[in-house]
Amino acid sequence: MKVKVISVLEDNYMYLVIEESTRQAVAVDAAVPKRLLEIIRKEDVVLRAILTTHHHWDHARGNEELAQLFPGLQVFGADERIGALTHRVTHGQELTFGAIRVRCLFTPCHTSGHMCYFMWEDDSPDAPALFSGDTLFVGGCGQFFEGTAEQMLINLTQILGTLPKDTKVFCGHECTVRNLKFALKVEPENEAVKEKLAWARVSVCAPCASPIHPFCPKFPLQPHPCSQ
Ligand SMILES: [Zn+2]
Repeated sequence: MKVKVISVLEDNYMYLVIEESTRQAVAVDAAVPKRLLEIIRKEDVVLRAILTTHHHWDHARGNEELAQLFPGLQVFGADERIGALTHRVTHGQELTFGAIRVRCLFTPCHTSGHMCYFMWEDDSPDAPALFSGDTLFVGGCGQFFEGTAEQMLINLTQILGTLPKDTKVFCGHECTVRNLKFALKVEPENEAVKEKLAWARVSVCAPCASPIHPFCPKFPLQPHPCSQ
């Protein structure tokens, strides 16, 4: 299972999850169809479905256009407000796309219909992946637009906090440095926060100051496109 990380808009992430043996793919939060289509072509894969974490435009805006371009495209989500929705999923529901397995994890709070997606491939050495949308970021969580702090606490500790330790987290926005700076204001002596902030800063492109996916261990080693 290969995950393509696609930076879009101001600081959003869109993802394309590829089953490498069959070249079939599933998109997560397809907000910018043009960018997604470029990657689909470049990777030479067939788009099977879209998984949408929540209805906000910066996560779901591309659904209608993609549904028109790919007749029969399945669009999954937990909120009727999601554009072009074909399958409404519920907590704990499992989906299968070839060898890719998905478990839907309902995490209401940022919106009342927010769904995270936990993905893995059976008999694969790859670590499982969590697509956390605007529920969990690196060093923080999403705003409580349609829920309560109690709900978010349950989301983070009981729903996402109990996933396997080797799970890779792919979140909906890049706000690592901002979150950790805030955390350091609240807890100035917290060594874990200091360490993580130093790590995140290394992942920021010096010439243009844009973040380079600090949650991905591969990216900090690569020059940012602006310096090439
Ligand atoms: Zn949102």
